[in-house]
Amino acid sequence: KRQNIIANFLESKKLRIDTQNILRAMGDLERLSGRACAGQANPRDLIAISEGLKKLPRLKSIIDLFKYKIPSWTDQLKIIDNELLELADLISFKLVENPPLNISEGGIIHDGVDSVLDGLRNLIDDYSDWLNQEELKERKISKISNLKIQFHKNFGYYISINKSKINLAPAHWIKRQTLTNEERYVTTEIKNKENKIFQVKNRAAAKEYELFCEIRNLVATKTKKIRSISKSIACMDALLGLAMTSLENNFIKPNLLPITNSKEKQSTEIIAGRNPIVEQLLTNKKFISNDILFNNKQKLIILTGPNASGKSCFIRQIGLIQILAQIGSFIPASKAEIKIADRIFTRIGAVDDQSSGQSTFMVEMSETASILNQATSNSLVLLDEIGRGTSTFDGLSIAWSVSEYLAKKIVCNTIFATHYHELNYLKHAIDNVENFQVLVKQKKDKLYFCHKIEKGGANKSYGIEAAMLAGIPREVVDKARLVLGYLEKNNNFNSQIQIK
Ligand code: ADP
Repeated sequence: KRQNIIANFLESKKLRIDTQNILRAMGDLERLSGRACAGQANPRDLIAISEGLKKLPRLKSIIDLFKYKIPSWTDQLKIIDNELLELADLISFKLVENPPLNISEGGIIHDGVDSVLDGLRNLIDDYSDWLNQEELKERKISKISNLKIQFHKNFGYYISINKSKINLAPAHWIKRQTLTNEERYVTTEIKNKENKIFQVKNRAAAKEYELFCEIRNLVATKTKKIRSISKSIACMDALLGLAMTSLENNFIKPNLLPITNSKEKQSTEIIAGRNPIVEQLLTNKKFISNDILFNNKQKLIILTGPNASGKSCFIRQIGLIQILAQIGSFIPASKAEIKIADRIFTRIGAVDDQSSGQSTFMVEMSETASILNQATSNSLVLLDEIGRGTSTFDGLSIAWSVSEYLAKKIVCNTIFATHYHELNYLKHAIDNVENFQVLVKQKKDKLYFCHKIEKGGANKSYGIEAAMLAGIPREVVDKARLVLGYLEKNNNFNSQIQIK
């Protein structure tokens, strides 16, 4: 059903763009309503909630256009809850559109919402008229035509004149403050009135705060509903994101096969799969796609190939595609049939954990142990090298027996990338093991990576060539070649190496 939502989006550009615009304007309703519930929301948060809720009918009309069957969590977006729309209207009726951040200074509530507040505001208007009259009166008395009555939050109301007019100041003015170009005065009348103005303004601000808290509390009572709707909105947002990614990256819809008890095991087949992350990172070369098939005859894939040929990239690609498919997303491939996995197990990379006294090898072994102890026949197991942090024969023996256990006992879809070419022999001993290799071309001393995965086992790791590319001194590289030649000829790791 999630795939259906993505398909709906992919088939209609209008649907995509409209949904994107609506979701963008909806804000983060879940977080905002959480703030309201905790008594933390400010007026702007409530306005954002109101704006978000008002978009619900538009979102519904979009969902009504979906052609394919979609998940049941969309139901609550299809049935518009009138209570929430009424709440949205109430918020925008009571709160001004662009409220200040500070909620204690007023200027939040619309006129006409509360008669007490309206009365106080009328009084404030009267006082403001009185101040204008007082300004005119003092201009007349002093003959200072540009005199102004102004307000400062620390000093209150005062008469402001230019310093050049200081001689015209009448006797009833009381000097308050001297600035570089300005003199400030007060009068007894202004001071008396100021007290009253402050009182009324404080009462109005307190009333506004009280009214605001009432609205916030009302929103808090609807938080559960809003949060539940937000979840569906978030799901829609996530799926639209996946649809956009699918469109931009040419993903296709995989066919998912459920886990069944039937004896007839289904297969997983991905044609021309791509690693969605590496594909994005490559700038000046094309990503090479690869197929994979898991069926009864091909359960454990032993993947060999030189360093940097693309083994890790391929292994991660299979894991990422499985995850994408199982979250309902489309996937980077040209065609795919994917059996649902109960879990994905990976052993990738090399880390140690010195704080708990674990060497890289011990970490590797603990991870392997956890896979062997927990994987089922429905799991997907991805192993990128096992057994490197110990002696070659130790490591090879462990890699060998782990592979056998996975192929014979657990019988789950597994890829095992390794430099132990000896593991290619398992194919001859166990029915469901198949060898694959990453192709490379060698011309003279240089390696060319094709990144193409084909049936067959590599018999060479080209580790020395990789070492040379990495900048190991020529002398060391030459000696390594000599030692390798000797070892390969004698095939006896315990013999004394004495090569000059
Ligand atoms: P390995 O695990 O074999 O050592 P990686 O998987 O780390 O090699 O691949 C080495 C590099 O090769 C990657 O970082 C990537 O740039 C490139 N590469 C790998 N696979 C592909 C591919 N299929 N197409 C294009 N480039 C690839």
